[in-house]
Order: sequence, then C-alpha cells, then structure tokens
Amino acid sequence: MQATPRVAQALRLNLAHSFSTCARLQGASGLKINADRLWETLHETCKWGESHRYGEKTTETGMARLTLTDDDARVRRWLAAEVEKLGCTLSVDQMGNMFARQPGKLKSAKPMTAMGSHLDTQPRGGRYDGILGVMAALEVLRTMKDNGFSTNFDIGIVNWTNEEGARFPKSMCSSGVWAGAVPIQKAWNLQDIHNPDVKLRSELIRHGYLGELPCDATSGFRLGAHFELHIEQGPILTDSGRSIGIVQGAQGYRWLAFTIKGKDAHTGTTPLSARQDPLLAASRMIAASNDIATRHDALASTGILKVPSNASTNTIASEVTFTLDIRHPLDDVVQAVQKKCLEAFTRIAAQDGKGVTFDWTLETDSPAVRFDKGCIASVQEAADTLVGPNGSMPLTSGAGHDSVYTSKHCPTTMIFVPCKDGVSHHPTEYCSPEHCALGTQALLESVVHYDSFRLSQGTEV
Ligand SMILES: [Zn+2]
Repeated sequence: MQATPRVAQALRLNLAHSFSTCARLQGASGLKINADRLWETLHETCKWGESHRYGEKTTETGMARLTLTDDDARVRRWLAAEVEKLGCTLSVDQMGNMFARQPGKLKSAKPMTAMGSHLDTQPRGGRYDGILGVMAALEVLRTMKDNGFSTNFDIGIVNWTNEEGARFPKSMCSSGVWAGAVPIQKAWNLQDIHNPDVKLRSELIRHGYLGELPCDATSGFRLGAHFELHIEQGPILTDSGRSIGIVQGAQGYRWLAFTIKGKDAHTGTTPLSARQDPLLAASRMIAASNDIATRHDALASTGILKVPSNASTNTIASEVTFTLDIRHPLDDVVQAVQKKCLEAFTRIAAQDGKGVTFDWTLETDSPAVRFDKGCIASVQEAADTLVGPNGSMPLTSGAGHDSVYTSKHCPTTMIFVPCKDGVSHHPTEYCSPEHCALGTQALLESVVHYDSFRLSQGTEV
C-alpha cells in the first residue's frame, strides 16, 4: 500500500528521528521487518474509521471503527485482498472471524501458529489497540514472503470480530464463542446499543461475513498457537524504562455487589447515635476495601454506587448498593482480599449509631489465566536478542484480550509494547514508530522460534 506523499514525508521525518535510539531490529531469524511499511500501512488503513482529530499531523486522530460498521467492512475487505496477494487461504467462520493461513514447508495438516488481534475499536478509541496486532501480523507475513522464508508449520493471521464489545455489548465476543465460553446464539442476538433492530448476525449477513465454518476451537478453525502483539494500555513499561512486556497471563477478578440497609431518618432531629446510615457505612466500606487491596498489592474498585432516586438532602438514605471489583494475578490473593473485606465490612456495619445490615452476591468470578510456558519462552528468547535482558520484563495483563480465550484451547501468549502515558481507549492513544517496529520484530522472532520448538517436538505436534 502506498502512503500519500504527505503521510510518507511525515513518516520519514518521524522514523529518522526515532530510530536513532532504537534497539536492533535484528533477531535470530535473520529476517528484518520493514518498519516504514508497517507504520505506513497501519496509518493508511486508519482512514477507515478515523475520527476525533487532536493535532495537525495526518496521524493525529483517534478512531471510531466499531465492529461490523461500513468502515470495519472496508478494512476487512482490504485485509482479505492483502493476505490473498501473499498466497494465504482465507477462512471466515460463523462469527465473521477471519483466519488467513500461509502454508509451511512441511505441508502439515496440523493447525497453524496464529498471530491474532482485532481491527475494531471503541467509539472514541485510538489507532493502535488491536490494530497494531493485526498489522504487525501482516508485516511478519510480508517480510517472510519478501525473503522467500517459510516456516515449518503453517502460520497465519486472525482478525477476531467484536473484541471491543462497544457496539454489540460483549467484549472478546467472538474469541469467546470460538472457545465455547459464549453461546453463538447469544452472540448473534446481541443488539446494536443505538438501534435494537440491528443485531450482530444481521450485520454479519449485510457485510457478507457470516461464514459457513463453525466458530469452534475444535470443530471449526483450529489453532496450533496464538501470539498477540498489543499495546500495554498501562504505564508500567514506560515507568520502568523497558520496551517489551512478556505477558505471563491475565489477572483474576471477582465482581461483588453489596446492598447496605439502614433506616430513613430526619437529619436534623436524629442524633448520630440513633442513626442507621447505610451511605456512611458504604463510604467506610469502600475506603476499607482500598486499604485492604493496598496491603495485598491488589486492586479493589467501586464503579457503581447507588442511593434511592427519591433520596433527599435532609433525610438519611434507607438503602445503598455498590459494586466491588477485586483483581490480582493470583486467585488466592483475590480470595484473601475478598475475605478481609467481608470481615471489615461486618465490623463497619456495627460501628456507627445503631448499625446497618448488609448482604452481597458474587456477580462474576474470572480466575487468573496462565499463558503457555513454551510460547512465553519463545517471546523471552526474542526479547533477549532484540533488547537484552534489561529491555524487557514479565507482565500480567490487567485487561481482557482475545488471547485469554484462545489460551483455553491452544498455547498462547502476548507481547506488550509501551503506549504513551499508558493511555488507551482514547483518541490520543499512541505507540511510537520504533515501539511498533520493535514489537513486530519481536512477534516475528517469537513465531519463528516457536515454529522450531514445534518441530523439535515432532511433526505430530
Ligand atoms: Zn485490544
């Protein structure tokens, strides 16, 4: 794809500046990705869905490419044409997931080693979340083709449908169906949040992306491994001066919902000692959960706090509900934080005035995910060669990704690269050209290394 002259010039200036301090883009494979082509392709394809301009440069816009919109269909058709030019076979399943498969030297029927992510964005999203992972995968295949290089096993790209869950509210929707965690009928029936007459399935049909292949990890398009390059979406890499995150897994989380019951009372005539004030108790509980999480190096957050809609300034509320989201890479710690919170909440409930009562329900329990040791070792090897041991670090994903679902069925890991100020899901989300290129080179080295590892395990692996 040709960049417009203006984009090309801006890119050259950018690249000339940024690569002076870059790590070597040369790993054990002997192949070198084309950093300019990667950057140009990524930004050229952002013309489909670009939105929320924030600066003068061509690339200084965010994205609004919601899944299965006309712009998403355009970038899908473009990707289909590009992978076919490379000689890949393209399969589309019943959720519109796109699988591009490049044959390996062995002509093995074994499932391909996949590089996957998503091309859809949030309504006020950026140009890198998901998009980088797919464009990097394409650049890896282009680089291999340029060099006449073939892997042993088949290799390819996956574009997962509706990862963001922004238009049809179910995040990691289609990898979830593929993994058997989300029933396909439920996914198909998801309604456009702005127009309930439009369903995910009707949009798949409208764009010609309702494939015949089952969306299923075993009876549909099987994967031999799944590697996903993604921006970190947090500040840890930047703060620690590292450029590659070797993702070990995803943290576990539990969502709890609490109802605190007290009694309406006049604020002017009811002494503090006579009150049953659920809002005061809830406030102390939320603050206590933060203290407990801090002591355990975990996260505890309240995103929803509700008082009755008829509450008034001079009346103690009768009831308060709030949510609690607890997260940590280890399930034991999530459980320990929950236990300590419940103990503290029991104390707090009796603490003020005549006390309050509370009950709670567990809304979601998502255990921690450990990624595959073999895949992680391949990324570690790639990172050591490209940036040395001090240039990378192990990380745990704080967000959900398609890789969390693929890990249930095939060896999986992720590679994180830094994004400016840890910002994502915002138009100003930014990953520098050198970090995009470094991540892509790391992806290439990882899949080549893993391909050799697969061979060492025998051609039946
Ligand atoms: Zn993403």
